Amino acid sequence: MGNPPPHRARKRFGQHFLHDQHVIHRMLDAINPQPGQSLIEIGPGRGALTFPLLERCKQLTAIELDRDLIVLLQEKSRAFGQIHLISADVLKIDLSTLDLPTPYRLVGNLPYNISTPLMFHLLEYSDLIEDMHFMVQKEVAQRIIAGPGSKHYGRLSVMLQYHCQCDYLFDVAPGSFSPPPKVDSAIIRLLPHASLPHPVANIEQLALVVQSAFSQRRKTIHNSLKTVIDCARIAELDIDPGARAENLGLEDFVKLTTLIIDS
Ligand code: SAH
Repeated sequence: MGNPPPHRARKRFGQHFLHDQHVIHRMLDAINPQPGQSLIEIGPGRGALTFPLLERCKQLTAIELDRDLIVLLQEKSRAFGQIHLISADVLKIDLSTLDLPTPYRLVGNLPYNISTPLMFHLLEYSDLIEDMHFMVQKEVAQRIIAGPGSKHYGRLSVMLQYHCQCDYLFDVAPGSFSPPPKVDSAIIRLLPHASLPHPVANIEQLALVVQSAFSQRRKTIHNSLKTVIDCARIAELDIDPGARAENLGLEDFVKLTTLIIDS
């Protein structure tokens, strides 16, 4: 039997493989994996993070879409520990059905084409998750941590910060990957809140309010929400009806949503 043909990076799977040992070490330090923890890696690829993670914690679960990588990962992992590979699209995985003790620690150098929908998908399971360490496009990382007044502030910031404490850890340059992506990258840490600082009765309703408020950023909040809420009632919440979405905090969006739900 000869060696299998070398694996070629596939664009449609968002494959950019990390090869920078310095970045890999910094990620491992940030994650600080320990034996006994339920570690889940998304998109292990050729194992750049997988093998060092396995070496430290001896077992992990990994979800990989590219079937050609599964055999390679399975074989190479043996030297480091025990890997449980799930050959599937992570967007279709129901985390509540995994045969693993909770809470989960999720890690991954995410495929950039699905990173935003993926984070929204994972937030549905935030009760099961201890923390998440992800490599994302730098611009996405900036949007995740942005606050009111920042040009990066928007729907992603509000919805992620509703569920999690969001930290920007460090930047990663395109040259750290093969092939190099066209954009800069960054590592983020998401810590689901043990109890929500600003809970709302209906999260879908919050998502709708945030979406309509930011869909036309230049509009005042009174204008974007005028079909569902009247101006005087916005002022009663101590929110300036003439403010724009980009100037409202998470707490304001929660107050507006609660008013709509209660009215
Ligand atoms: N972790 C590796 C690979 C990162 S590239 C490294 O750092 O080198 C992104 C990885 O996610 C690829 O292996 C790609 O095949 C995988 N992937 C892409 N879409 C996916 C999906 N929907 N579900 C699971 N894995 C996916």
